[in-house]
Amino acid sequence: MTTTQRLLLVEDEPTLCELLSASLRLAGFQVTSAETGAQALSAVSEQRPDLIVLDVMLPDINGFEVARLLRERHPGPGGEHPPILFLTARDAAEDRISGLRAGGDDYVTKPFNLEELILRIQAVLRRTSGRQPDRRLLVDDLALDADSHQVTRGGHAVQLSPTEFSLLRVLMENAGQVLSRHQLLDRVWHYDFDGDDSIVASYISYLRRKIDTDRPKLIHTVRGTGYVLRKPSP
Ligand code: CA
Repeated sequence: MTTTQRLLLVEDEPTLCELLSASLRLAGFQVTSAETGAQALSAVSEQRPDLIVLDVMLPDINGFEVARLLRERHPGPGGEHPPILFLTARDAAEDRISGLRAGGDDYVTKPFNLEELILRIQAVLRRTSGRQPDRRLLVDDLALDADSHQVTRGGHAVQLSPTEFSLLRVLMENAGQVLSRHQLLDRVWHYDFDGDDSIVASYISYLRRKIDTDRPKLIHTVRGTGYVLRKPSP
């Protein structure tokens, strides 16, 4: 079974964005778009696309900066950000091209041929598919499927909001490891260190109500430190 691959297209020129979205959909991809670097960053964490087509010249932060921030937020292993294919201007200097080679998986120079873009996207996806983090997580009887966005506890479906889902995913990816509020704030909400971390406690309590009622507790508070999700002791 092949699943439809999801692309995030980041392009601030509306006409080009529409044209590209339509062409990529015709080529069989599921496409969402963003117009700014900031929108791109939140779209990556909300949608976990399989690949990002990232224009370098954006109105707020440029594409290279977006790539740098993604690397910082998803240092891996297992937490790698999606592969990036940059869209660059024809006059990009040689050194910028080598710079983006370091930060991206490929690049296409504008103006480009649509067919070429699609071939490049397919090639990057083939090359990088082996390094995708595990998209099905299981801790005790709690299962999370990142592709279908389904969560079950003891075989029963649990309905989560997108933020609850992201929070649970981070906790499950790091099962057994204590995560501080700041780490969670950074990985789930992408706030800087000085953000208000009381939101983390609120969401932890929403999650507990949905997954930890009537079942052995999986989410534990480590006083003064943070939270950990782990199997109940036998
Ligand atoms: Ca642009």
